[in-house]
Amino acid sequence: MGVAASAAMPSLAWAEVDLRGKLEQGAVIVGEVDPGAQVSLDGKPVMVSPDGYFVMGFGRDADPQARLQVTHADGRAETRTLAIAKRDYEIQRIDGVERKYVTPPPEVLKRIARERKLKDAARPEDTPDTYFAGKFEWPARGVISGVYGSQRIFNGKPRRPHYGVDVAAPSGTPIVAPADGIVTLARPDMFYEGGLVFLDHGHGLIGYFMHMSKLDVKPGQHVKRGQKIGEIGQTGRSTGPHVHWGMTWRGTYVDPATLVGPMPK
Ligand code: ZN
Repeated sequence: MGVAASAAMPSLAWAEVDLRGKLEQGAVIVGEVDPGAQVSLDGKPVMVSPDGYFVMGFGRDADPQARLQVTHADGRAETRTLAIAKRDYEIQRIDGVERKYVTPPPEVLKRIARERKLKDAARPEDTPDTYFAGKFEWPARGVISGVYGSQRIFNGKPRRPHYGVDVAAPSGTPIVAPADGIVTLARPDMFYEGGLVFLDHGHGLIGYFMHMSKLDVKPGQHVKRGQKIGEIGQTGRSTGPHVHWGMTWRGTYVDPATLVGPMPK
């Protein structure tokens, strides 16, 4: 089955199913089965490439168990219960602070809605490429200034969790493709995200990069791992220069940091 395991990504082999990655909330897990096998997760079909690769993502608050079913080409079926480890997220409670929320004016609301449609259209769920099965690297070198899953609670009201990892570095620091992919969106001035690039790694795994000061890629372009896609900035709603690296698997926000080891020194 031949998927190489590294220290960061233990391999959990069954008889004929390899899973690469740590089974935990937020994880991206790459699997390999015999060609022709069919896979489903919690009863929903998972795309499998002709050579047997597939990818699955588990959300921030994924249930402690998931059911993986594999029907091999010869008809034999295997069902496994996967134990999904619970993660502790950074929760910050802030009380007594009056939180000002100003409803954006109608033209800004229209812009936000328009941009949401652009983003939704740039998240295909069934592209056949299997770039996800290759190695991933950090898109930028810097200080990790924000982690996946963290959340602030203002006066008992939870805000939207932080769905990505932030790498802080000076504006102009190169951002590279963490793995091969196809650019599905490249916009310099989104309202929230500022300079924003989406990279499709195949089978519904989409990585994205926010607050960029410069974009070096165009939609439709194939980029190789390590290729420069742009530069760090603080465009959009950002308090300092950093890149927010986020990722979705078929619409579920997953933690891209689960695909890479510690930040290189
Ligand atoms: Zn962020």
